[in-house]
Amino acid sequence: MAFPWLREPWLQLVASAKAKRLAHAYYLQHNVEAGSTEFIQRLNQFLLCKQPGKSACGKCKSCLLYQSGNHPDTWTIDGGDVNRIGVDSVRELQRSVMQTANQNGLKVAVILQAEKMTEQAGNALLKVLEEPPSDTHWLVSTADAERLLPTLRSRMQWVSVSYPPSIQNEQQTTSAKELLESLRGLRELPVLKDKESALSWLNVSENLLLDWLLVNQRVAAKRLRYQSLYDDLQQIGHFDWVNVSQLSEWVSECRQLRQRFQGSTGINLPLLLSFSWSRWSETLSG
Ligand SMILES: [Zn+2]
Repeated sequence: MAFPWLREPWLQLVASAKAKRLAHAYYLQHNVEAGSTEFIQRLNQFLLCKQPGKSACGKCKSCLLYQSGNHPDTWTIDGGDVNRIGVDSVRELQRSVMQTANQNGLKVAVILQAEKMTEQAGNALLKVLEEPPSDTHWLVSTADAERLLPTLRSRMQWVSVSYPPSIQNEQQTTSAKELLESLRGLRELPVLKDKESALSWLNVSENLLLDWLLVNQRVAAKRLRYQSLYDDLQQIGHFDWVNVSQLSEWVSECRQLRQRFQGSTGINLPLLLSFSWSRWSETLSG
């Protein structure tokens, strides 16, 4: 395993496989730079391998098919390629999984960046996982587990990986710091070029507000998404008109924006998010 922080979770999964105690579905933190996709692919091949040891053998027919990208019993939805994962793609995946395994072994369905699933898509996945076919495993990565339906999360087993914080969200933390300074009027608001960048700023906005809420509730710094912003968020705690209910309202606003964006192609997310930012910024300046 190229990434040291993935070794421990890997060994645990291999042990579960040997003991025939594998769960039907696993989910883990999506973090490409830190190897989350590589981990899922490795696990995918391991599950399909006909003679696995501590990892896939790399020599059997299943392994060769997998390595050439032609294994007929595995399917992937990559949220990295799309704005949202709609119900149709989940249903299609579901239909593929219902077929008899071509290679007479297990079947593996993968969803990367599952936080991009619409609510409908999440519900469709939930239905499958409520009565999972016994010969199928689901491997799911998500950039934000809290964005998955709680009922869905309860059907999957969390693979805990201690990613190094520096890799975890350095880029996002920089953006969050920039946003916080803009909202306080210390610099210009970021420019939202297109819907992709607006969506990523929307995620940063929501996470920043959630962190701010935690700080207001006197939660320890280590539970924050952007830990290095703890001091900044604490310092602005003296704005007593920005209280828990105000922050919660803004968090819901972010979630509604995301839902509207995922529900229709016509909405101008960059414009709407800029409006929200301006309003928040006005409130903050008293
Ligand atoms: Zn093999």
